[in-house]
Amino acid sequence: MTAHSSGVVFDLDDTLIDTAGVLLPDALRRVAAATGLALSDLDASGKRIDEVLRTAGPLTDEQRAAAAAAWYSPSLPDLAPLPGARAMLGALEGRTLLFLLTRGDPARQQAKIDRCGLAPFFDETIIRPIEQPGSKADDLRGILSRYALAPERLAVVGDDPRDELKHAAALGCPVFPVPQTPLADLPRLLAAAGLIA
Ligand SMILES: [Mg+2]
Repeated sequence: MTAHSSGVVFDLDDTLIDTAGVLLPDALRRVAAATGLALSDLDASGKRIDEVLRTAGPLTDEQRAAAAAAWYSPSLPDLAPLPGARAMLGALEGRTLLFLLTRGDPARQQAKIDRCGLAPFFDETIIRPIEQPGSKADDLRGILSRYALAPERLAVVGDDPRDELKHAAALGCPVFPVPQTPLADLPRLLAAAGLIA
């Protein structure tokens, strides 16, 4: 078995960086300021701006445009990886293929990747534009095909049961949900699963 007969796909938001605790409050504050809405008017569970605004009532076109610009702005507050993320990726580097798979506004997602400093660990980074049809299932299938991996050799680490975790399970990939799985435990768990030597 070669070192690259397996791979691990990582989600970014709330898997390797603290989106809910750091980035989301900042983005919601900026949307509120840009539109004149109250924070309580916004749906913090939304991922796209139309979802964030679904509880806001009637809005003008100008408010919608300002909200989208604020929500998808690539300007970010200070952003460090979640505790244990850097050391964990360092422990896996060179032992298996490492992929970063994220969905969102491309410029904003790239800014997050640049800011958190984890990009050098990954063999390939895939940013799926939020408005693009399809899902992360297409990207997972693409990885399996390009790297000639069987689904059981491609682990997926993520936080969203409606997104990467669901798609990975449907494809037959081993799934490691976070935060239920501590990042620091991943090297040991991947070795126990036979995915890394
Ligand atoms: Mg996520």
